[in-house]
Amino acid sequence: MRPFHGLLENEGHVYANWGRSCETKPAVYVEPLTDDDVRAVVADAERFPGPVSPVGSMLSVTKTVVNDGGTLMCMRKLDAILGLERDAAGRQVVRVQAGCRLKKLHLWLQSRGLEIPFQAEIGEATVGSVAVGDTKDSSLDAPGYFSASVVGLRYVDERGDLQTLDESTHSQALAEFTCSYGLAGIVVECLVAVRPAVLCRSRFSSAKEETPERLAAHLRRLHAACDNLWAMVSLDNLTATFDQRFRAGPGAVTPAASVPQMDAMRLQHRFSIQHGLSAKAVERREPLPAELVYSRADLVNEYWRPDTTESRLDFQFYEHDFPGLERVLGESFAFTNRFRENHGFSPHAWILYFVCRPERSRKPFGLYSGGPGVSFSFDPVFSDPVDPRWQRFARDYNQLAIHELGGRASPIQTQWLTSADLRVPTRLARPRFTTPYYAQFLDG
Ligand SMILES: Cc1cc2nc3c(=O)[nH]c(=O)nc-3n(C[C@H](O)[C@H](O)[C@H](O)COP(=O)(O)OP(=O)(O)OC[C@H]3O[C@@H](n4cnc5c(N)ncnc54)[C@H](O)[C@@H]3O)c2cc1C
Repeated sequence: MRPFHGLLENEGHVYANWGRSCETKPAVYVEPLTDDDVRAVVADAERFPGPVSPVGSMLSVTKTVVNDGGTLMCMRKLDAILGLERDAAGRQVVRVQAGCRLKKLHLWLQSRGLEIPFQAEIGEATVGSVAVGDTKDSSLDAPGYFSASVVGLRYVDERGDLQTLDESTHSQALAEFTCSYGLAGIVVECLVAVRPAVLCRSRFSSAKEETPERLAAHLRRLHAACDNLWAMVSLDNLTATFDQRFRAGPGAVTPAASVPQMDAMRLQHRFSIQHGLSAKAVERREPLPAELVYSRADLVNEYWRPDTTESRLDFQFYEHDFPGLERVLGESFAFTNRFRENHGFSPHAWILYFVCRPERSRKPFGLYSGGPGVSFSFDPVFSDPVDPRWQRFARDYNQLAIHELGGRASPIQTQWLTSADLRVPTRLARPRFTTPYYAQFLDG
């Protein structure tokens, strides 16, 4: 029996995700302090009943964090940034432990004039989770999902042994591992490619269109005229806000002249996202500037853990191929209208992120695995994860988005999935790490 030094709780406590929509009662909850702690837990099936499932900040909206009767392992205390180095291909990389929060990593890199291209607004997501899970961001000069920058990692396998994967010697194994949701092993350390930091110029605009087809045409025009696009759409009245992003030259921090506007925008974003774009958030919304030059890393926020009485973000994620934009908007508009008429409910907004897909060998499974092209996400957002009308909307919309519109879903970011909606290759999953939630998706 190896010693375990971290926090260990086995008295039947209940743990919940950020949005308080999923709870779990593991037999044992652990917070390892070292790699050896992680190894000790995985190797000892008697003290630490299986499955052993890793979590970070538990921000995920789905039952990915649920592990009743097993061992829930929170990685947040393994959060050191170990330094910069060159990988075997000569690239500059940062070595970072799996429990490090993204905002902490952004700040560390900013102070050295560097960045990772994935700069979604979520600062509390942990490196280990996003290295093997699903993410989306309208990034500049990069695909737009975190694991695209992972060039190596260390993980604990099902026997409790430490294993290393790096792109130069194990490119296929590494690519597959980054699609494994923690089912192939527990990530303890990542090597993430970095680059000199660049500033972003955002051009903000809004529009109201008569039809979903015209809204799609508007989105296409804006997308073609910038380096990347982010948009928020209301299907109730076909209004939209757009953020066209352009490269704005080297720079790691927001220029002094932009700081007041940038900070006002950051606080406004934080409030809106924290509250899931609820009426409370909309009331406080100030007009955005026409244009702003800033560091995207400065716009990454952290969010407080809400209680069940507060409005709080909830969402569904669907990835679509860009050529299908008109159909996705048109049919989602018709669906939302019908749902509103029948149930008196529609989501607050829909968010679009644009992601460049790589060749299949780099992203063999799951999101973005369709081969080179552009994807967009079309994600409905609401402010109460446990509202039964929202839950019904999300379930019903899964049918349309996945089975009729051909969207890909995520076991981490799309709720109410069934085994007909998503398949995960069995060869990625080890029984020691496979919770019942994931077992339902295994393909054989
Ligand atoms: C307010 C808010 C805003 C968000 N905005 C965005 C956004 O803009 N873009 C975006 O892409 N996502 C966004 N998300 C989703 C969020 O980034 C993802 O759910 C992310 O995975 C959460 O990280 P976490 O550390 O909380 O993971 P957790 O929820 O703790 O864990 C999720 C899963 O990751 C895996 N995992 C965790 N740690 C490890 C490890 N060390 N080794 C192996 N597997 C592991 C496990 O499968 C686990 O079940 C947002 C979520 C919230 C609540």
